[in-house]
Parts: sequence; C-alpha cells; structure tokens
Amino acid sequence: MFDSVKSILIVGGGTAGWLSAAIIAAYHKNRSDEQLQITLVEASDIPTVGVGEGTWPTIRNTVREIGIDEKVIFEKCFAGFKQGGKFVNWVTQDDFYYHPFTVPLGYGQLDMAPYVSEIEQFALEANYQQEICEAGLAPRSLSEGAYQGICNYAYHLDAGAFANLLKNHCRDNLGVIHKIGTVDQIRRKDSGGIESLSLTGDEGPFDLSADLYLDCTGFRSLLLGDAMDVPFISNAQYLFNDRAIALRLPYDDEDAPLACHTIATGQNVGWTWDIGLTTRRGVGHVYSSEYLSDEEATENLSRYVGKSIDEYDVKSFKFKSGYRQKSWEHNCVAVGLAGGFVEPLEATAIMLVEVVARYIAENLPADQTAMKVTSKRFNSQMDYRWQRITDFLKLHYMLTQRPEPYWQAHRDPVSVPESLKEDLAIWKYRGPIKSDFDGVAELFPAASYQYVLYGMGYKPDYNRQSYLYKDEASAERIIQKNHLMTQQLLQTLPPHRDYIEHWLEQV
Ligand SMILES: Cc1cc2nc3c(=O)[nH]c(=O)nc-3n(C[C@H](O)[C@H](O)[C@H](O)COP(=O)(O)OP(=O)(O)OC[C@H]3O[C@@H](n4cnc5c(N)ncnc54)[C@H](O)[C@@H]3O)c2cc1C
Repeated sequence: MFDSVKSILIVGGGTAGWLSAAIIAAYHKNRSDEQLQITLVEASDIPTVGVGEGTWPTIRNTVREIGIDEKVIFEKCFAGFKQGGKFVNWVTQDDFYYHPFTVPLGYGQLDMAPYVSEIEQFALEANYQQEICEAGLAPRSLSEGAYQGICNYAYHLDAGAFANLLKNHCRDNLGVIHKIGTVDQIRRKDSGGIESLSLTGDEGPFDLSADLYLDCTGFRSLLLGDAMDVPFISNAQYLFNDRAIALRLPYDDEDAPLACHTIATGQNVGWTWDIGLTTRRGVGHVYSSEYLSDEEATENLSRYVGKSIDEYDVKSFKFKSGYRQKSWEHNCVAVGLAGGFVEPLEATAIMLVEVVARYIAENLPADQTAMKVTSKRFNSQMDYRWQRITDFLKLHYMLTQRPEPYWQAHRDPVSVPESLKEDLAIWKYRGPIKSDFDGVAELFPAASYQYVLYGMGYKPDYNRQSYLYKDEASAERIIQKNHLMTQQLLQTLPPHRDYIEHWLEQV
C-alpha cells in the first residue's frame, strides 16, 4: 500500500519507454527523488523494434515540453518536416490525394466540400499545403523561429537516434535513473498488482520494485499481457495487415530533393511507405499474409524502389492487429506496442505514447483511490481511442475502387466496424464537422476525416438540405484567398532540404 505514487519503473528502452520517461520526468521536473523517482530498465540483448519514423503534429509540443531544442531533433535524428500524407493509388490504380496537417480554410465555419469544383479537389481548393508538399518546400521560412510553422507539421525522424536522444536527455537533464537488466520474473501481490521484478544484469541477478509500472516491452507485453494476463482484442477483421518489411535506402545524390510528406502507395495488397530523412529514405511495405507471400512483398518493394532490395538489410515484422482489453490494470500501465498496435498508416503509435504518458504525468501523484478512478477513466478513454484509430484507418481502405481481392474485401460491409457505419450514416447528408469529434479522447480532428473522405471521392448528398449550402460568395472568397496564399507561399517558402541546411547553420 502507498499514500501516493513515489516511484515509477518503466520497463523497456524503445521509443515508448524513453518518450514516456521524458514526458513524465519533464512534467514533474521540480520534484525530488523522495517525491517521485523515475527508473527505466531495459534489456541489453533484446533489440527495440527500430522503426517508427513518422510522427503526428502533437510531437512538436511534446519535444518542446520535454525541453529539447528543435534543432537538436534535426541534427541528431536526421529529421525532416512532415506536412501530411500523400496517398497514391488508394482509390483506383492511378490517383492520389493528400491528407495535409493544416486544416482547410474556413474550417469550423464553412464546409468547403459542397463548393469545390470536384470533391477530390477539396484539399487543393480549400488549403495550400498540398501544393507546398508537391513543390517540396519547407513549412516555414528562415524568419520564423523554432517550432513555428506557416503550415502545420510533424517530423520524420530516425527511430533509433530519437530513442537515443531521449535517453541521453532523460539521464542528463531530467533525473531519470537508467538500469540495464532483463526481466526474468514478475511477482504479483495478493491484491493483484505487481509486487516486484527479478532481473538479470551484467553483474548478476537483482530485483526492482515501484509503486507504478509502465510496460514498454514492445510486442512482448511482458507485464500487462503476460504477467497480468490482460486479454488481447484483435481487430484483424477490420484491418487485415499483419506483416511488414522495411529498409533504409540511401539517396543517389546527397542533395537529392527531400520529400516533406509521407508517401503511402497502395499496392495489390497493402501499401508501401516512403519517408524522407536528410541522410536516407526509410521505405517499407505493410501487407496481409493472407493475401500476399513474403516473396511477393519483396517483389512489390523492389518494384517500388526500382531495384532489387536483396542487397539491403531488410527487416521483417510480424504483428497482430489489436490492443489489450485494458491498458491499465492495478499498478501496471502499458505504453506503446505493449498496449497494442494496428498498423503504421497515419503514424498513430508514437502519438498514442505521447497521449498516454501525458495522462499518467498529469494524474500523479495518485493515492490508491485516485489511481482506481484514474485507471478506470483511462481504460474507457483508451477503448474509445483504439476504436477511433481503427475507424479512421479503415476509412482509408473501405472507399477504394481497386479490383484486387484484398481491396474488395475491405469494402465488404462485414469488415466495417459498426461505429464507422454510424459515422457514415451521418455523413451521407453532411460532411464531418468539428462537433463530431469534440471529446477529450479524440485523436483526429474533423479536418482529417474530411481530407480522407473527400480525397477518396466520397461526397455527401448536400442536395437534401440544399438551403444550407447557398453561401457561394463566402466560398468563392475562401477559394480565391487560398489561391493567393498558395501562390505567395510557393514563391516565398524555401526548398525543404535547403531550409534545413541553412537553418542548422544559423547560430
Ligand atoms: C513496421 C512498423 C512501422 C511503424 N511505423 C511507425 C510510424 O511511422 N509512426 C509511428 O508512430 N509508429 C510506427 N510504428 C510503431 C512504433 O515503431 C512503435 O510504437 C514505437 O517504436 C514504440 O515501440 P516500443 O517502445 O513500444 O517497443 P520496442 O521498440 O520493441 O521496445 C521494447 C523495449 O523493451 C525491452 N524489453 C523487452 N523485453 C524485455 C525484458 N524481458 N526485460 C527488459 N527489457 C525488455 C527491449 O529491450 C526494448 O528496449 C511502426 C511499427 C512497425 C512494426
């Protein structure tokens, strides 16, 4: 029993472990060790997953709040700006649409969808960021300061380098205690929570205990899944992908243009990702083993990169799409892959780590009673978030017109979650609006749904309430304003790679 949480033990030193440590430690930075001690232990011989290069715009605030200079992210993690996603060949086999991070002009006041020339042109006519991405420009100019953006952005970064940067920052600046050891045994209390862990380190066995445990052990889910036996809920009936291959691709030329958006290209089964870092590209293929063999996936990725990938160090991943029924059980919370994983489309995993770690930080110190309430609320929020993530990702698939069996199976109503069917029933006569997504547990704004829905050619039947959509004059003003802003930004924003180089040289 404890009066309040005075010690946290984070098990796992991947992105989830170190990012959680940094968020919680920075939030409680004025603490003393007696008030809150944060320890992270990781195995030296169990590698991290080593992928996770795309982030969500929340990362900007997170990095700022944990006290890392934005330039350091670019220098140490070879980062580039990510201004959204370009989805190629998801509707037919010859199309693309954008999900930019900047909300459409008029957002919250006037849904531009009824007024654009063609629904697929929504992102282009209601916002300037698509053109900025197509032109390969940075989201700001040298006169703006760190963390600022004319266009909203996140980062593309090297996952290993990011975890390393966080590790050093946590140890050197945030008072996180770092230990090396492999967890061999987890002892439970009679009341159900975790009592202590037995580990093996370089100098032999040792024990660790804490008031609160964060399970950041990746797909193993050693604490929450194995020891606490919290069931896994599969959502593979909605999202079929369960395999991925990934590799690091050098640029042909070190001054090659640097993409400022993730390129997700639909394949006969699944999709390939293409992420531009300053020093290399990260490319990969996510697919379903039910529809594609590993050999065929290798062929697809080779075709995508334009040469055989056999000469590269190709990493393979098997994953189960789904999440733990509860993310917080007694004194154990799962963060990162230990809590669940659907697939990397839209880079939700690191964003979820940020959300979860912030929630934990904000609710400490907690006594036993507060922790029960906190965990109950947390579990219901997480349940909702997993459902929303599933729905949002499924939306990218279910509006396809591609003929292959994999894509057609995604259109089958039995593969569409009921909650998404409900949303679509509402969006039959109007588009997604802000108030559809105003709860504390929301992860994506209505704008994200608009970009995907309209980009894939889904147009609500606005005629049913046509009197609501007679504001052609305002719409025309917005379209003109957007056109002007686009022209201005195309002339003033610097090329992405040039900007990063010059900015990093600035003192
Ligand atoms: C193919 C693929 C692509 C992805 N792309 C993205 C993306 O673009 N954007 C995004 O947000 N997310 C992405 N993700 C998810 C992202 O990679 C993870 O969410 C993120 O890296 C966090 O991983 P983790 O820290 O939970 O687990 P891991 O990186 O697996 O770390 C687990 C840690 O636990 C330790 N450990 C395990 N067992 C023990 C033990 N017995 N004792 C002690 N320590 C132990 C390991 O040593 C390691 O330090 C992707 C995932 C995959 C599979």
